[in-house]
Amino acid sequence: MSTEQNVLQDLKDICAQTKARYLMYEDIHTEDYERDSALFIKEMGHIGIHCDELLEKALIVPEYGGGFSIKHHDEKTCGGYTQEGNRKCLMVLPGFHEDREKETIYHEAAHVYQYKYNILDVIKNDDYTKYRTEVHANVFSTMVSLLKAKSILDYKKQKLSRFLEGVATINSDEEELIYYLSLPIELALMREIRKKGRLKTKEEFSKHGILDYKKIAFYTAQLVKKHCFSQEEFEKIKNKEITSKYEKLKRKAKAYRILGSIYVFKKERYYIKKENKHHQLEIKRLKKIAKKLAPLCENNEENKVINALCQIDNCQVYLAQDVGFFPDLELVVTEQETIPERLEEDEKKWVEETFQKIKTIYEKWKENEFFQKYFAKINDNYQRNVIWDLKEQKKKELEQRCLANMAVNER
Ligand SMILES: [Zn+2]
Repeated sequence: MSTEQNVLQDLKDICAQTKARYLMYEDIHTEDYERDSALFIKEMGHIGIHCDELLEKALIVPEYGGGFSIKHHDEKTCGGYTQEGNRKCLMVLPGFHEDREKETIYHEAAHVYQYKYNILDVIKNDDYTKYRTEVHANVFSTMVSLLKAKSILDYKKQKLSRFLEGVATINSDEEELIYYLSLPIELALMREIRKKGRLKTKEEFSKHGILDYKKIAFYTAQLVKKHCFSQEEFEKIKNKEITSKYEKLKRKAKAYRILGSIYVFKKERYYIKKENKHHQLEIKRLKKIAKKLAPLCENNEENKVINALCQIDNCQVYLAQDVGFFPDLELVVTEQETIPERLEEDEKKWVEETFQKIKTIYEKWKENEFFQKYFAKINDNYQRNVIWDLKEQKKKELEQRCLANMAVNER
């Protein structure tokens, strides 16, 4: 694969051509939730997707201690994703240091071209379309890596790696298997390149010495149309019925099973490494939040109220994060909020218990003016930070008073 610099330049060129934008996963998965989500929300805003929609799509969720956190799709498998809004795309990418990450960049770039030119009818967004567009993205990325090969040896290495990946996918029991059955089309691509010659193909798909990605996107789409499963075959495979074409593919893959499983093993090790990195980061972030969550010393009424309001907010966040339900607090305390039917029985029970907790706290403080003023604010996703800011401020004041007292005592 190419150097990091080379991939980054490609990414910039692709974005310039398609008006797409990109975000690196490392930029939005740091120890700081607030900075991360602010950057993410801003970038999504650029392509016309606003905060409410992000909440609705559960791409962000309210976070303990105020603010939002991002719900990453595929962080542990190093996948990226492409979000389309207002005819512009935002790619969220895992990075560009390792080969797997570079592959993901070209895979997501294919999705950007799909949206830009409605390749393979991407806007339809049904299962069959999803299968064809995912396969197209894989084949696009394969073609790029083959054409970017620097020598015959490198070309052969890329070819083998793509082939093994395809075999491994067919051997695995992954539920989403059907979306990634790109092997037949990748094999067809390799045949085409061999027929035409590696260097000649590269020349045909280059413009002023660099690869013409738009041309590659359209060409690979033609290959997909020609070699993919038909809608009928696809439905059968999805329902776990066997088609003769699919059977043949499985038999072929079986013959290469050992190679395929070695490849999977290698890949899994890579995933585990990545997962650890994110796991460590999450622990650090949780520690930070724990500090924020610590209650105020309840030596006066106002502090007690602030603690109570924070507790109610925690209940809200719990519901949003664990059951994906954003209740209206005013409705909860007047017993008018309904629990969504889509929830499982035990989830409904948690919601009921959490409602009860909110009500108990509310009953205790509802006559308090200060409580009433802030209760309305924490019911609003964009205003609920005020209560956490207030708490931080109180903590600081208390610290300063302590220091002042110590100074007096020492005199
Ligand atoms: Zn994809």
